[in-house]
Amino acid sequence: MDAVVYKGPHEVAVEEVDEPTIEHPNDVLIDITTTCICGSDLHMYEGRTAAEPGIVFGHENMGIVSEVGEAVSSLEVGDRVVAPFNVACGHCENCENGKTGFCTNVNPGFAGGAYGYVAMGPYTGGQAEKLRIPYADFNALQLPKGDDHEDAFSLLADVFPTGWHGIELANFEPGDSVAVYGAGPVGLMAAYSAKIRGAADIYVVDRVPSRLALAEEHCDATTINFEEGDPVEQIKAAHGGGVDCGVDAVGYQAVDAEREGGSAYDPARENPAVVINNLIRTVKPTGELGIPGLYVPEDPGAPDDMAAQGRIGIDFGLLFEKGQALGTGQCNVKEYNRQLRDLIIEGRADPSWLVSHRVGLEEAPEMYEAFDNREEGVTKVLLEP
Ligand code: NAD
Ligand code: ZN
Repeated sequence: MDAVVYKGPHEVAVEEVDEPTIEHPNDVLIDITTTCICGSDLHMYEGRTAAEPGIVFGHENMGIVSEVGEAVSSLEVGDRVVAPFNVACGHCENCENGKTGFCTNVNPGFAGGAYGYVAMGPYTGGQAEKLRIPYADFNALQLPKGDDHEDAFSLLADVFPTGWHGIELANFEPGDSVAVYGAGPVGLMAAYSAKIRGAADIYVVDRVPSRLALAEEHCDATTINFEEGDPVEQIKAAHGGGVDCGVDAVGYQAVDAEREGGSAYDPARENPAVVINNLIRTVKPTGELGIPGLYVPEDPGAPDDMAAQGRIGIDFGLLFEKGQALGTGQCNVKEYNRQLRDLIIEGRADPSWLVSHRVGLEEAPEMYEAFDNREEGVTKVLLEP
C-alpha cells in the first residue's frame, strides 16, 4: 500500500510499504478515509528528533473498519471510527483515571504511545491506505455511518481535544479571560474551545495573518501580531492586570522575535522558552498556564545542547512571585473526544473551518513543505488516501 515515509530532514515521499495485519486479537484494521498532518509531525520532519528515515508518519487517523480481531467486541467491519493519536490499553491505572496519554502498558520505559511517532512505541502511522488499531475497543471511537462531518470528525484524533486540553490545563472557567500563544491548529482549537465554553475575552498571538484572521472570525478573539511589538505589552494595553489564564500552543520551535531575523528553532540557541516566559508575564498573579506545546523529552541519543534535550530556561522566579500554576503534557484524547464528537453531532460545535486543504495522499510532500513554511492560508491539511 502507499504511505507517507520520512526520508530525512525536510523530505517525505509517498512509497509502497507493507500492509498492516492483525497482530493481536484486540486489533482492528481500518481503511483510512482521512489522516491529517500535524505540527507535531514537523518536529520529526525538520530533523529535530531521533526519528530514523523509513518511519511512516500519521497519528491523526480516521477510517472504516475492514478487519476485526477475534477478541474485539464493540466493532464490526464497516464501522466508521476515529482513533485518538494516543495508543492506550484502557486498563492500567492511568487509563482508568482518564490519563490515556500516559498509558503504562503500551510503550514500556516511556510515558504513553502514539502512531507514527519517534519513541512512542511500535505503532506505524496512518498517513497510508490502512492502519492497525491496537486495543481497538478502547482506541477506536465510533462515528455515525456515512460521510457527514468528515472534516470536523477528523480533528477529534488530536487538535480539537488538544486545544480543549490546553484550556483545561490552564484551569479555564467560563467568564475567564485567556491568552493563547500560537494560532496553529492547536492554538486555534484552544481559542475555539474557550469561546464555546464562555470566555469573556480571548487574545490570540501569532504572526501569520491568515491564521490570526481565523482566530478573529471563528473564535471572536482579539488578535496580536508579535512582530508588531512585545505581545505581552500589547495584551496588557487591552487587559490591564493580566489575563486569568494562558495557553502555550507553540512549543520549543517558537520564533524569537528578539533574535536577528526572528528565526525559528536553532539547536545552538540557549533558550527556547520564549512563549512560556511571555505567558508568565501575560497571566495575572495566581493565574494558570496550560502548555500543550511540545518541548522535546530527554533523549540520550540527541546532542547535549539544552534545547535538544528539552532543558529550557523558565523564568521560575517570576512564576513563583506571581504564584502561578502550570500544567503540561500529551493530551488525553480519549477523555474528551466522545463529548466533543457529540457536540459536533448536535451542531453545538463545528471546528471544520480549521481545515484549509483536503488533498490526495500523493500530494503529501508539497503539503508538508507548505505547512512547515506556515504559508499563508495553509492551516490544517487533510490527506485522503
Ligand atoms: P504549528 O507549528 O502549525 O503552530 C504553531 C504556531 O505558533 C505557528 O502558527 C507559528 O507561527 C506560531 N508561533 C511561532 N512562534 C511564536 C511566538 N513566539 N509567539 C506566538 N506564536 C508563535 O503547530 P500546531 O499543530 O498548532 O501544534 C502546536 C504545538 O502543539 C506543537 O509543538 C505540537 O507538537 C504541539 N502538540 C501537542 C499535543 C499534545 O498532546 N500536547 C498535541 C498536538 C500538538
Ligand atoms: Zn497531531
